[in-house]
Amino acid sequence: MADSCALCKKQLSTVFLDKIKGTYVKINGKHRAVCSSCQKAHKDLKAQF
Ligand SMILES: [Zn+2]
Repeated sequence: MADSCALCKKQLSTVFLDKIKGTYVKINGKHRAVCSSCQKAHKDLKAQF
């Protein structure tokens, strides 16, 4: 099951198994998925939440 990006809401494609094209950011104890383009666009990802 693929996650969607917490910022742009796009569905994240998986590379293989559960590896997503993006990253997980831990916000308030929860892991949020963020796609690689949002990751590049925002240097401080945690500030976006
Ligand atoms: Zn995104």
